[in-house]
This record gives sequence, C-alpha cells and structure tokens, in this order.
Amino acid sequence: MLFQNVVFGPIHSRRLGTSLGINLLPSDYKVCNFDCCYCECGFNTKDLSEKHTLPSIHDIVLSLEDFVKKTDKSEMKKINSITFSGNGEPTLHPDFANICKFIASFRTEYIPQAQLSLLTNATHIGKLEVRNAIRYIDNLLLKLDCGTAEQYKRINRAATLSFDKLVENLIRFGQGSTIQTLLTRSSNEEDGIDNTTDEEFAAYMKIIKAIKPKRIMLYGIDRATPNTSLIKLSTEELENYADRLKFLGFETEVY
Ligand code: SF4
Repeated sequence: MLFQNVVFGPIHSRRLGTSLGINLLPSDYKVCNFDCCYCECGFNTKDLSEKHTLPSIHDIVLSLEDFVKKTDKSEMKKINSITFSGNGEPTLHPDFANICKFIASFRTEYIPQAQLSLLTNATHIGKLEVRNAIRYIDNLLLKLDCGTAEQYKRINRAATLSFDKLVENLIRFGQGSTIQTLLTRSSNEEDGIDNTTDEEFAAYMKIIKAIKPKRIMLYGIDRATPNTSLIKLSTEELENYADRLKFLGFETEVY
C-alpha cells in the first residue's frame, strides 16, 4: 500500500492512535535503504542511487495549509500524533532537519496536543543532520527486528549498512527511545526467516539491554506483505515474548 499524498490521514495507527501522516518520499513508489520482507509498501522497485523526486518544504507547507483549511477544529483536537512515515525511510530526505523544524512549529500553532513522531529504520541516526532533526521529535521509534546479522540480511535486506554498524548506532543514540520490532517467521523454509527462535530472541534481548530503550513495541503482521509466506503470530505468542522483555525491566507493549 502506497500513500498518494504528502499529508495523509488522519488514520488510526495501532501504535500511535489518531495519526496525521507526513510522507517525504515519492507518491508512486517506495524509497528505502532497507527492503523488509514484510514492508507494507511492497518491495523496492527503484534503485536507491536513482534520482528521486521528493516533496519540497514548499510542497509540505501547501499540503498542511490545505489540510488546515479542510479540517474541522474538533477533528484537529483528536489527533494524537503527527507522524513521519509513508513510502519509505523519512531520514533519506535531504532537507529532513528543516522539515522537522517547520512541522514542529506547525504543530505548536495548530495541533498543540499532538506528539511529533518519527518511524525510522535507524540507519541514519548517527548522521549529524539527522541528529539535529531528531531534536524536534517527541516520539522516536527505532526499528530493530532481530539479534543477528543473518536474520537482518533475511528480514531487513539492507542496501548498505552492516548489522554491526546499525547496532552500534542504536546503542549510541537509542537510549530512551522506543524500539519497534516485528516478529515473524516464514512458512517457506528456503527463506530462512525466523526472528522468534530462542537463540535469535536471546541475541535480540542482549542488544536491547545494551540500547536501554524507554519502551519496546512488539507487533506482528497486520496487512498483506510482499513475501507472502510470512506467518502472523498470535497475540498470545507476542505476549510471551513481551513477558521476557518485561522480566528484564523493559516497558513492553504488544500491537
Ligand atoms: S524500513 Fe520501513 S519503509 Fe523501509 S523497507 Fe522496512 S518497513 Fe519498508
């Protein structure tokens, strides 16, 4: 599923409540330096190195002005989060810091109760310009789906960043953040996708202990996935994994 507009929703988000989405990527295909087997936007269809037309800050201003004009004040009051998400990885936008700054001031003026949230695969959180942008974010949600390089390769299918470097970034900059983790396994043995084994989950928990996040969100598959062999875990099974994290003292929620 791709988002057609720069500003979309508000939609009901399992994790964020009523969320007004901001899509900083193209409207007709995904741009991401991961290519997760479960990505709701589908698999990558374009190379990251190609030239992509991304919305400018001017486009974003116009879209938000239009949203304000069309939306009742009572509806605006229901929004819990203004969320950078959409068709790929938001921090790939070259003007991300300025956009965050603008949206933070828009939020203060029009939707002051809403948190500013960023859903990111965490690959760029070590970059200075992204660190500058994150100063404006109230709710930083960093992806970590596994505990080993093998599952990282199979699940997240990263274009460049190694698993060791990703973990190093998360440990350095992820303290106090929210870690978001999708748990799944494939019914096709050839995929080798499974972040739910005892060994894998133990390796994952070891990294979580080093990151020291404020909160962990565990979730399962909810919509159609590009790899159609992925299995949706039951809430009960997700709760079992959550209990193991809670036992370590981490606030953990299941979605
Ligand atoms: S990081 Fe997010 S946008 Fe990128 S491939 Fe994974 S799920 Fe899709």
